Amino acid sequence: MNDEIIRDKEEIKPSKSFIEQFIIEDLKAGENNGAITTRFPPEPNGYLHIGHAKAICLNFGMALKYGGKCNLRFDDTNPIKEDVEYVDSIKEDIHWLGFDWKDREYYASDYFSNLFNFAVELIQKGLAYVDDQPADLISAQKGTPSQPGTESPYRDRMADLNIELFGRMNKGEFEEGSRVLRAKIDMTSPNMHMRDPIIYRIIKSPHHRTGTKWNVYPMYDFAHGQSDYFEGVTHSLCTLEFEVHRPLYDWFIDQLKTNDYRPRQIEFNRLNLTYTMMSKRKLLELVQEGKVRGWDDPRMPTLCGLRRRGYTPESIKRFVDLIGYTKVEAINDVSLLEHAVREDLNLRTPRVFGVLNPLKVIIKNYPEGKVEDVELINNPEDETMGKRLIPFSREVYIEQDDFMELPPHKFFRLAPGMEVRLKGAYIIKCEGFKKNASTGAIEEVYCTYDPETRSGGNISEKKVKGTLHWVSAQHAVDAEVRLYDRLFNHEDPAGSKCEDYRTLLNSDSLKVLTGCKVEPSLGSAKPLDKFQFQRLGYFCVDYDSTPEKLVFNRTVQLKDTWSKINK
Ligand code: ATP
Ligand code: MG
Repeated sequence: MNDEIIRDKEEIKPSKSFIEQFIIEDLKAGENNGAITTRFPPEPNGYLHIGHAKAICLNFGMALKYGGKCNLRFDDTNPIKEDVEYVDSIKEDIHWLGFDWKDREYYASDYFSNLFNFAVELIQKGLAYVDDQPADLISAQKGTPSQPGTESPYRDRMADLNIELFGRMNKGEFEEGSRVLRAKIDMTSPNMHMRDPIIYRIIKSPHHRTGTKWNVYPMYDFAHGQSDYFEGVTHSLCTLEFEVHRPLYDWFIDQLKTNDYRPRQIEFNRLNLTYTMMSKRKLLELVQEGKVRGWDDPRMPTLCGLRRRGYTPESIKRFVDLIGYTKVEAINDVSLLEHAVREDLNLRTPRVFGVLNPLKVIIKNYPEGKVEDVELINNPEDETMGKRLIPFSREVYIEQDDFMELPPHKFFRLAPGMEVRLKGAYIIKCEGFKKNASTGAIEEVYCTYDPETRSGGNISEKKVKGTLHWVSAQHAVDAEVRLYDRLFNHEDPAGSKCEDYRTLLNSDSLKVLTGCKVEPSLGSAKPLDKFQFQRLGYFCVDYDSTPEKLVFNRTVQLKDTWSKINK
């Protein structure tokens, strides 16, 4: 650790988390010769979600800030649930967030031999034994937090026999569930995890990396801490539920370590979001049952879903920064996440015109066949984004709800006899409309324009209260727009006592609008391109989009409930 980096750290804003302070303490104390090694340890049994982003930002962020390393380690100890599809998606998502593990891509399965040998060593020391009882009996004997457990009748089996049985378990001689290997610790410990935990079980499904080499697989608790140890991880940052596992991890490391080194485990609170479910198992069910269109459905809290929805890595990292790391379980308001993406997209997206529910306006005194290019600023927040020209002509589309036949007081949009400005172009006045006799729907609106009122070079002094977005009818490009609402109606679907979380799903979470009209400059937009549709929100081009038919996802509306709450 050089002085310069330490000095830099001391100037860091007061927002340093308790974890960062521990890391600084350790650096100052010269622990691990000044090395910092963290890791992000996903189990490849699902796609990453926004909660994982919190762990990723912390592990990679601390390593980057303090000149350390962060490993990517797949905790792949359960062949039944794991798949290379998940491995690939996890790597893609971490890269998308902007982090890189270089050549340090590790797998718990790389350590299966070391773990197996360590288990044998524990048996030899009399610290592990094969239990022939079925799982339900073992779990019944565990007792309760206030009552000690009961020792297994196999607990004092001789080491030689245990070694022989463990070897035969691994050769595939016994059925799944017929035997397990347990650590011999303390059946009376107040910590239930210390009551002779199972450390190996028989599984006969092939593993996505080791194939059929093994018939016994380590439990997560037996693999996780030791994998950190094998990799020289200095700071094992994990979520609060692992706090009670720490004594067990320490116990294993005590048996394993050969010098003073041991990973320092520090726990922090999980990210939970309102109106959101974060359990990978339940997200998988939503996908499998077709409740959503896939892992990357824009309503999902997965990173690929958020990406498709139009979220940027910067907005997710900013959100994670805002919520911080504490020791208290909490549920964060999803509107804060929306606030973060709005702030980011405000700076980076060009403003464009898109009409979601078109209503045709015919400007009767505008010459037929005439087209004028009007100039518009791409982003008032960023001059360097320049200007663009969009065509104006006799027939334009406006939003249906920007016109009312019988407007209430203070309706500053279009209505019979009223004037509005078409943004960047002219002031028009409504002279009449056509109504469908049977449905009552307004089909066309007739206006006149005042040629003296064109925006730009010849700006007229005339002022009107309303300004509308619009697109020229003959130049407009057709689009489908998908509007999203929360996936769940319940503020805390995971915490609700509801028996079936599916009943909490919001049946109106997706609304598809076809027949939308967008300005011609969007004709060449590519998937994941992002825009602000003026007055409507931020939108992102979907993967389903083609040059013939553009498809947009609405990322978020313009209205910011979060900054309102905090005013
Ligand atoms: P599982 O129930 O499958 O274990 P998991 O969400 O814990 O689900 P992992 O793949 O084990 O999934 O998670 C990888 C890492 O991400 C772990 O270190 C875990 O602590 C962290 N993590 C998972 N969910 C969250 C969350 N909601 N907030 C913060 N960190 C999380
Ligand atoms: Mg986990």
